[in-house]
Amino acid sequence: MTDLEGKLERFCNRCRQNKLKITPQRVEVYKALISSNAHPSAEAVYDKVRGVLPNISLDTVNRTLNTLNEIGAAFVVAGSGDVKRFDGNLDNHQHFKCIKCRKIFDFHSEPLDNTETLRKLEEQFRVLRITVYAEGLCKGCIEKEQN
Ligand SMILES: [Zn+2]
Ligand SMILES: [Zn+2]
Repeated sequence: MTDLEGKLERFCNRCRQNKLKITPQRVEVYKALISSNAHPSAEAVYDKVRGVLPNISLDTVNRTLNTLNEIGAAFVVAGSGDVKRFDGNLDNHQHFKCIKCRKIFDFHSEPLDNTETLRKLEEQFRVLRITVYAEGLCKGCIEKEQN
């Protein structure tokens, strides 16, 4: 089984657990989301899915992304600004956003997954996800600045 097939199978199970029909729309939106690590906006997902399902509307894509968020198959990247950016990568990771080109990069630091302070939250809340978010300039933009 390929990585994509495995993810799709888990996704379908998740839909079933949440009593959601596995529609072509949901599958294609999910596929578009996990096929790159660009953390796409709803518009970017729409552009991709339209290639496969020409009749889909931006509204449907938006609603589908929100549904994926609700069932935990995807989430909205914290701090990503006025335009929501989505992430289908459920592995523990952190984000770096470039304030210039607006690219969002994944990075992973294990100590950041479980810091003592953040774990204290568990005493008060049911924590579903902790995301650490950093911003600044990416390598490409720094190089452009120096030229
Ligand atoms: Zn940049
Ligand atoms: Zn990510």
